[in-house]
Amino acid sequence: MRECFELRDTDAGGRIGDLTVPRAGVTVETPALLPVINPNLDTIGPRRLADEFGAEILITNSYIIHGDDDLRERALEEGLHDMLDFPGAIMTDSGSFQLSEYGSIDVTTEEILAFQREIGSDIATPVDIPTPPDVSRERAEADLETTQERLDIADAADTGEMLVSAPVQGSTYPDLRERAGRHAEGTGLDVFPVGAVVPLMNDYRYDDMIDVVAAAKRGLGADAPVHLFGAGHPMMFALAVAMGCDLFDSAAYALYARDDRYLTVRGTRALEDIEYLPCSCTVCTEYSPDELRALADPERESELAAHNLHVTFAEIRRIKQAIRAGNLLELVEQRARAHPTMLDGYRALLDHAAQLERSDPVSKGSFFYTSHESARRPEVLRHHRRLERLAVPDSLLLTVDRSAPDGGYDDVWRVQPPFGPFPRALSKSYPLTAEVPERTDRAALAAAADGVARLAETNPDAELTLAHRGWPAGVLERVPDGVSRIDLDTDET
Ligand SMILES: [Zn+2]
Repeated sequence: MRECFELRDTDAGGRIGDLTVPRAGVTVETPALLPVINPNLDTIGPRRLADEFGAEILITNSYIIHGDDDLRERALEEGLHDMLDFPGAIMTDSGSFQLSEYGSIDVTTEEILAFQREIGSDIATPVDIPTPPDVSRERAEADLETTQERLDIADAADTGEMLVSAPVQGSTYPDLRERAGRHAEGTGLDVFPVGAVVPLMNDYRYDDMIDVVAAAKRGLGADAPVHLFGAGHPMMFALAVAMGCDLFDSAAYALYARDDRYLTVRGTRALEDIEYLPCSCTVCTEYSPDELRALADPERESELAAHNLHVTFAEIRRIKQAIRAGNLLELVEQRARAHPTMLDGYRALLDHAAQLERSDPVSKGSFFYTSHESARRPEVLRHHRRLERLAVPDSLLLTVDRSAPDGGYDDVWRVQPPFGPFPRALSKSYPLTAEVPERTDRAALAAAADGVARLAETNPDAELTLAHRGWPAGVLERVPDGVSRIDLDTDET
């Protein structure tokens, strides 16, 4: 078990955890949001972030502080916590972002790590190489090699109680991301940012973002705290948490406010287009949209930033509650409806259902079937696997109706879309207690047919009969020929 991170609850790939930050003397509950503080311009001061918004941790850039004579002197003299006036944990970035933007920086990993330790950072970052998406494989591999050398330097450095992050790179190559995750896991480092995903998010490539995170997670251990570096829009938090991300940093709240943009969990709105405020935070209850627009510049920016932060923290709390209640995937399904690219992200998440299934609890509160994507949830996959282990009698009727046709079978099992067949004894156990719409869709029928097929394939000697109600030919094709069929609507076999 990793000493600094303890998992308490899980749902799909999402988890509630405790990140112990020894140097700050605090424990941060994850999923957590780290507001980004630019030491040169703070739209909302760190003290206010803690007191009004409940921020337990923030992130600032040690490279900016290092490069500014005044800030550097103050940070070395007062320490980061006093300089920023923040009582929680402080993570520092290293200049990797500046490296990716400007091509070079003037510090080494050894220097910036020592500096981060001197100014009192609680979680430091080495200078990794953020490789953008879609570069050549040669470049991604060469960059990754450099990043791994830097992580090894960081691992060997004397960093005391300070936690050190180990960024996972590898561009859009899943095998490189997985390899990078495995290498990072093998170091003695503590927190694992999945790096260089900002370009994916700027282009709304949420499906590719999910594939990148899923690959990194395969290399990392289950108990590794994962930071989705640069991801600050609340719209995609639920999706990213469901894939196993624990930490997010938001510069978005301030950057968007600067451009008069208003964040919601369903996307971003231009302040000029808003007629009604869909939010009950302190800002949105105090002002009408016209009053907000009429505010002078610094005040309008600050009020918008405050709203953006309120929405962002509220979404983190909503996600934690969903994990506790066991309905995180229902929340992801709702968020996926906000934009077609978010739906792509959710569909990509379900491509990794087998990976999610490993951390998904065996029993939860409820399973609501709310879209045809629900048919691909990890619970359905797990039920199909469980079918392989169930004892099956010589002749068995599988029926979609509670009342079964009398045919002298050894036993009768229900068939419930999307899960498929199950013996009566399991009917009260999760997920077969699912709430499913009366008007079943084809995806649910197809998944149920796959369950029947799984049962038939693992019990080739059993005589199986499937009693369905008007299942389309395309669905029935998924069931092996050896299974007899009865259509209860027409009594045809
Ligand atoms: Zn608001």
